[in-house]
Amino acid sequence: MKIYDEHIHLRFHADEPPRHELAPFIKCARDRKIAISVKEHGPLPKKYQQGPRGDFYFAMSPGELEPFIELFVGSDIPIGLEMDYFIDSEDEIRSIADDFLQRVQASDLTIGALNGSVHLLPLDITADNANPAIVMWDDKAESFKKYIEICGIERIIEEYHKALCGMVKMQLFDVLSHIDLLRKFDKVDAKGKSFYLAGYEKFYEDAIFDVLQLASETDIAVELNTQGIDRPYGRPFLSQKAVEFCKNKKMKLTFASDAHRPEAIGRHFETAGQMFAQAGVDKLVFFRDRIPYFYDYK
Ligand SMILES: [Zn+2]
Ligand SMILES: [Zn+2]
Repeated sequence: MKIYDEHIHLRFHADEPPRHELAPFIKCARDRKIAISVKEHGPLPKKYQQGPRGDFYFAMSPGELEPFIELFVGSDIPIGLEMDYFIDSEDEIRSIADDFLQRVQASDLTIGALNGSVHLLPLDITADNANPAIVMWDDKAESFKKYIEICGIERIIEEYHKALCGMVKMQLFDVLSHIDLLRKFDKVDAKGKSFYLAGYEKFYEDAIFDVLQLASETDIAVELNTQGIDRPYGRPFLSQKAVEFCKNKKMKLTFASDAHRPEAIGRHFETAGQMFAQAGVDKLVFFRDRIPYFYDYK
């Protein structure tokens, strides 16, 4: 039996990002008998190519795309991207995806899938409330806290919901990544009360389930992203209730470690497997050439 980790990266985040490396990830995946699918952060639309490398301090800089693709020549590891969504750049996002897919096809490589993510939101209203700057709220807890102070958790949830809905409606992406990323820095007190979302739990849950409903209507797969387990909140970025919702709507689900280092491949998949089993999910999916294939994960 094979398990498919449908979301890994080929480097970790650093101020001076290292080059993408495929070989150590292949080795670790083979040792663990896990099939991997790479979803690297793709290049951003031009207006968001900020910072000295044009990578907004986390994405692929434009010049890195070709060497990244070349890494896969001679391997059968599926290549794919985790692309960022911006409400005002849908046409450009489509052309970045088209350009990537054409290059991959020209190199005769196996495409995995395209994942859609929201890491950047218009939250900085300090200068212009009507036209806020796009910011990365998920890099550090201090950043998240700062934007809550600037515009409030309600607005953050609203913007996140709006962006996720826009992303799903594009019908470009095969997989919706880490829907609960807004919980990245959250934690609960002794009574189980959320540090950041207390008082807004229902509002947040309605937003998330609204996106999942839209995802079920547009047939985008949803990942259970296990990196959330290592965060203070301590559960994957997809709740048990959300897994059950997906099961009832017959949605496609994937395992996703979101590993940025080889040793994180398949991390916490036992817990994720138990969540799927508890919800009565029989089969998960993996993607080849953007086509979903069902498999038995148990
Ligand atoms: Zn991500
Ligand atoms: Zn990722």
